[in-house]
Amino acid sequence: MIADETLYDQLGDAAQLFTFPQPGSSTVGADAKWAYKVRFAAKTGLARALYAELKEWAFWSKCPLCHHRPVGTLDHYLPQASFPTLALTPLNLVPVCRDCNWVKQNFVAATESEQPLHPYYDDFAAAGDWLEADLVEESGAPLVFRVDPLDVWTAVEEQRVRNHFRDLELNDLYAANAGAEVQAIRARLSDLLDAGGPAAVAEHLLAEAESRSADLTDAWRPAAYRAWGANDWFCSGGFDE
Ligand SMILES: [Zn+2]
Repeated sequence: MIADETLYDQLGDAAQLFTFPQPGSSTVGADAKWAYKVRFAAKTGLARALYAELKEWAFWSKCPLCHHRPVGTLDHYLPQASFPTLALTPLNLVPVCRDCNWVKQNFVAATESEQPLHPYYDDFAAAGDWLEADLVEESGAPLVFRVDPLDVWTAVEEQRVRNHFRDLELNDLYAANAGAEVQAIRARLSDLLDAGGPAAVAEHLLAEAESRSADLTDAWRPAAYRAWGANDWFCSGGFDE
């Protein structure tokens, strides 16, 4: 298990975890899976405190995959069904929300570009914000979120982020929340429009976008506020339609 963990870390650093060899059945693997289920993840398990500690590795207890929902479980990045000797490897246990965990299931990537993003090894946002939103000028001012690839990404990295965005259905999640946010800020925007016109509304929204981008666990709000602040129709009262 220690040798497997060392190899895992090397492959993780190189973004090559899809090459991790799938072991045959072994006593060690069966024991590790048993220990995970009975001793580690079970509420009454002797090592439950370690399980709880790993769950706290996520900032603000927010899921590092969708950057929105609360952490609810640990995900085996390489699933224990195929990689039982990694069942207890901390680097392979990622705190995520239950929805994102359900989407991943027991998926095993066959190629580099199929690999899901790994929060401990992949930081594709380090060079900038890749999430953008386009506003639809109609009732409710809905937003459509999309991946805006960064220049520094390789083709494989871009594919991985696009898969991530599509498979976790992040547009649906973010668009629904953005719709509710418009309802919540509508009265404030109306006051700003009355007092200072569309320019005051735009200035407020763009300042909010800048400020909210400091919260790295909140993916959609900076993109939403940027899209709203840049749209003349929205700032001229479209938010109230
Ligand atoms: Zn999630």
